[in-house]
Amino acid sequence: MRTFEFKGGTLALNFVDTVAYRQGPCVDLLGEPADLATWASLAGYEIGGAPSVAALEGARTLREAIWRSLGAAMEGRGPEKGDAEIINAAARQTPFRPQFTDDGMTHTAEKPVDALLSGVAADAILRLQPEARARLRRCPGCQMYFFDTSPPGKRVWCSSAVGCGNQFKKKRHYARTSKTKNNTKAMETGHDRQAGLFRL
Ligand SMILES: [Zn+2]
Repeated sequence: MRTFEFKGGTLALNFVDTVAYRQGPCVDLLGEPADLATWASLAGYEIGGAPSVAALEGARTLREAIWRSLGAAMEGRGPEKGDAEIINAAARQTPFRPQFTDDGMTHTAEKPVDALLSGVAADAILRLQPEARARLRRCPGCQMYFFDTSPPGKRVWCSSAVGCGNQFKKKRHYARTSKTKNNTKAMETGHDRQAGLFRL
């Protein structure tokens, strides 16, 4: 079973983040239809097992349209017309609706895949509005998108506790300590040279 990350903070951003390491080697975590069912279930929606290959393709098409639109938003632009049409079409489908159960609630839909993508598309439209763009972030480490809901709004990394922020801190620490070691080594070499000069 695939391991999915839910670091995006919203349904649409988590969905876009199902492609990991876009800067390379670019891993599509929705590699086969069953992966979409797994992701949906982890996101809180049951789509009734693996969908068709065509349904997965549709999901990927929507995902890439949102991804391109996020890139445009990061540069202060709206989505391209074709991408806006793809997202709008998905958002027009009937979404999941909550229903009471004996012990809580569930989400149901006549067309679960369409309903899932409708929710994703609707969330994307909200996050791509000019007033929401200021909270969009792209992690400098893994390139994953996330919505910064922290009160100061100054989050940089997809995750500060584990993941890229932590990796960055480790690298910075290593760079500092190895620099110190190199300096010490250079100083020692200098001393040796001086000692050699004295010996001469
Ligand atoms: Zn990251």
